[in-house]
Amino acid sequence: MKEQLETIKQEALGRIVSADELKELQDIKVAYLGKKGSLTGVLRGMGKLSKEERPIIGELANEVRETITTALEEKGQKLEELALEKQLEEEAIDVTLPGRPVNVGGEHLLTKIVEEIEDLFIGMGYEVREGPEVETDYYNFEALNLPKGHPARDMQDTFYVTNELLMRTHTSPVQARTMKEFDGDQSVKMICPGKVYRRDTDDATHSHQFTQIEGLYVGKDVRMSDLKGTLDQFAKKMFGKDREIRLRPSFFPFTEPSVEMDISCKVCNGQGCSVCKGTGWIEILGAGMIHPNVLEMAGYDPKVYTGFAFGMGPERIAMLKYGVNDIRQFYTNDKRFLKQYHNA
Ligand SMILES: [Zn+2]
Repeated sequence: MKEQLETIKQEALGRIVSADELKELQDIKVAYLGKKGSLTGVLRGMGKLSKEERPIIGELANEVRETITTALEEKGQKLEELALEKQLEEEAIDVTLPGRPVNVGGEHLLTKIVEEIEDLFIGMGYEVREGPEVETDYYNFEALNLPKGHPARDMQDTFYVTNELLMRTHTSPVQARTMKEFDGDQSVKMICPGKVYRRDTDDATHSHQFTQIEGLYVGKDVRMSDLKGTLDQFAKKMFGKDREIRLRPSFFPFTEPSVEMDISCKVCNGQGCSVCKGTGWIEILGAGMIHPNVLEMAGYDPKVYTGFAFGMGPERIAMLKYGVNDIRQFYTNDKRFLKQYHNA
C-alpha cells in the first residue's frame, strides 16, 4: 500500500507539473482527491490493514493528500498569473501606432483668392469695406450713373425683392455708400469684396451668384497713370513679375474713360496659344476714371476731386491662376475639387 501511495503521489505531481491550464488542475484534483479519486480509493482499503499498519499508512496518506493539494494550489496560482500576464500583453495599447486621421477642413479656394487680393491692396494702403447684398435701386444703379430706363441696366438683370429693393448686381454700391459717408471732402481708398447676383443661366463661365472685388481711389490729383501703376502692381503680384499689362478702351456707365485690362498670357508668354485664343493677352478686369456725375452724386466736387475705380471677379482670377475650367466648381461643394487647393 505504501508503494501504491508513493506511485499516486509521483503520478499526480508529474501531471501537475506538465499541466498548462487551470481546467487541467481541476481534472487532476478530481482524479486523485475526489470522492471517486485514486487516493480516496486507497484509503477505503485501509480496513483490511492490521492495527499496527493503519496509523502509518494513514499518516502517509495524509501527507500525500497535503503534498498534492499544495502542489495544485501553487500551480494554480502560477497559471493564473501567467493568464493575467498574457491578457495584459494582448490588450496592451500600442502608443506608437498612428492615430485615426481627423478630418480637417481647409479654406475654400475662392476665400483664399479673395484674401490674397485683399492683402495685396491693404499693402497699398486700401481699406476693406463691406455692404448689404440686398440693395436699393438707388445705390445699385442711380448713384452709379444708371438712371431708370438706362439701357446698360439690361446687362445686369437681377432678382428684385420689391420695385426698389434688389439683390445687388455688383459691389459698386459699396463705393457709392462709402463716398457718401465721407461727405465729399476726404480722399477714399478702399476695396469691397462680396457676393453679387445676376439673372444669368449657369454654365461653365456664368453663375447667378458670383464674387466681385471692386476698388476705389478718390482724391485730389488722382490720375489715369495712378490707375495704370496700381493695376500693373496687382498683375505682377498676382500672376508673376514677368506679366505685362495692356489697357483697352471700353465702356462702363460709371467711369469715363473706361478700360479693360489684359495681362500677357503666362502659358505662351505673349506668343499666342489656345488659352489666350491666339492673342497673347488675357482679359482680367475692368476699370476707369470715375465719371464726374458719380462723384457729384456722392457729394464730391469733380473739379477738385478725381478718382479711379476697378472691378474684378475672383472666380476668374482663380480660374486663370489655378487652371479651373468651370465656374460651377466653386459652388458645388465637391470635396475632391476643393481638397486639391487646401495647400495651394
Ligand atoms: Zn497664350
